[in-house]
Amino acid sequence: MTDTTAARQTTGRNPAAPGSARTVASAVPAALVARLAKGVTATGEPDLVHTTAPLTGERLATLPRSTPADVEVAYQLARRAQKTWAALPVRHRQGVLLRFHDLLLKRQDEVLDLIQAETGKARLHAFEEVLAAALAARHYGRKTASYLRDRRRGGAVPVLTHTVEARRPKGVVGQISPWNYPLELSVGDALPAFAAGNAVVNKPDTQTALTALWARELLIEAGLPADLWQIVIGDGPVVGPEVVAHADYVSFTGSTRTGRDVAQRAAARLIGASLELGGKNALLVLEDADLDKAAEGAVRACFSSAGQLCISIERIYVHRSVAEEFLARFTARTAALRLGGGLAYGADMGSLVSERQLETVTRHVEEAVKAGATVLTGGRARPDLGPLFYEPTVLDGVTHEMAVCEEETFGPVVSVYRFDTEDEAVEAANSTPYGLNSSVWSRDARRGRAVAARLHTGTVNVNEAYAAAYGSVAAPMGGMGDSGLGRRHGSDGILRYTEAQTISTQRVMPLGPSFGLSDEKFAALFTTSLKALKVLRFK
Ligand code: NAD
Repeated sequence: MTDTTAARQTTGRNPAAPGSARTVASAVPAALVARLAKGVTATGEPDLVHTTAPLTGERLATLPRSTPADVEVAYQLARRAQKTWAALPVRHRQGVLLRFHDLLLKRQDEVLDLIQAETGKARLHAFEEVLAAALAARHYGRKTASYLRDRRRGGAVPVLTHTVEARRPKGVVGQISPWNYPLELSVGDALPAFAAGNAVVNKPDTQTALTALWARELLIEAGLPADLWQIVIGDGPVVGPEVVAHADYVSFTGSTRTGRDVAQRAAARLIGASLELGGKNALLVLEDADLDKAAEGAVRACFSSAGQLCISIERIYVHRSVAEEFLARFTARTAALRLGGGLAYGADMGSLVSERQLETVTRHVEEAVKAGATVLTGGRARPDLGPLFYEPTVLDGVTHEMAVCEEETFGPVVSVYRFDTEDEAVEAANSTPYGLNSSVWSRDARRGRAVAARLHTGTVNVNEAYAAAYGSVAAPMGGMGDSGLGRRHGSDGILRYTEAQTISTQRVMPLGPSFGLSDEKFAALFTTSLKALKVLRFK
């Protein structure tokens, strides 16, 4: 550590955000939980699961647990509903999504409460989910017909072969989602599946099932047939494989470790899967960056949803010539973030979701510090604010032996590294097996895009943290390398839920010896035709 870096260290505690009079118990009353619980497909004796509110540790919900037999029932109901749904005009299905868009914006406060109660995140970060789900609803509500329309393709023999590529729904999509963005990663990802004519059997994380159940109710209000979206609940290793076992296609979002297991099960059944997995995302501050904007963007990049965001930044590479200036701004802003769990806007960061998350964050920071890293700000839990609060933390002097260097922390912890050349920065950013998201800051947008092209990640944000690329719902979003397979959003995001079907109609003459042609004459005719078609630049 240099002397100047020592001067950047803050010792103060992050301030507490103003509280709110509204409590989890009043925002999520037992009657609401009981109503939402009716949306779980669970038939037999109720075997109950309980969740707690991360913000306070109090009991939040008691829900029925689905058995493997319940998952089978869910698929039966979904399959039946899907047949009728797929036969409806695509404009009808789009209309449901557009009505959902309007209802979601109108009733957003209900779901913001639920998301905060289930995840502990700040309301502003919960709102990101409303934004993302609304963007997906609008996009697929408007574009599905054009994504799915039949397309004329060149036939085997020009003029004589009329060929059309059509898109058919897969059938029932098995969707497994994590707890960190419970609205966006349940309904947001299901919308294109519905628009394409599928049903969905969804296993949300139990911790955040209320949010998914609420979204299901709202989509039904918007016109979705109730059986089309089945929600099953239970332990991941028990219910998750059952969801894969009956699906026609799997859409999985979660850790790379679980994703590998899901991929193997899907492969054994010869069904397709899209896998949206973990990351160890990097942010590059080039020497010509606007340092105020970069520092402000980096705070958002690292600490939204307390860093429990797959595309959030856990590594910052800053050019040595501007490192001290950038760090001064970045650590000061980080140390000033207001922490709190009020069910109202006003906090800059909320709490972690679970003991497990708190343990990982604490372990990564403590191990790094023991091995010689320096805490520039943060680095401690804040039990005075709630059981699972941890301060936004900036580490300097992190080396490869430390787990925090290359493992996904999935918490509010970022490590800072300095570089001298662009090549060095690109190589370092690309040095993990992951490849989800990255961010580049430069006053020269063209230079930023040139650096972006060299980064091995599915999305790159130039002069923004993550929302520019994620919010561009017309363009694909997903991971390279260990960060996943397949893409959500754009045409990829809906076509993954379809099978391509080619329908070719042959006219006038068959594709074999005919009209008395011998085999030799037929072969000679086609050889001449092939040569001519190439000369005529047929594709
Ligand atoms: P996880 O893999 O533990 O769980 C994800 C889901 O899979 C949960 O619903 C869980 O119950 C279920 N599950 C667990 N074991 C299973 C099994 N054997 N078979 C089938 N399903 C099973 O992940 P998590 O800790 O809940 O979520 C955090 C991870 O998700 C992080 O790694 C994060 O980066 C990643 N994530 C990725 C994206 C993305 O878009 N790339 C988005 C959000 C989160």
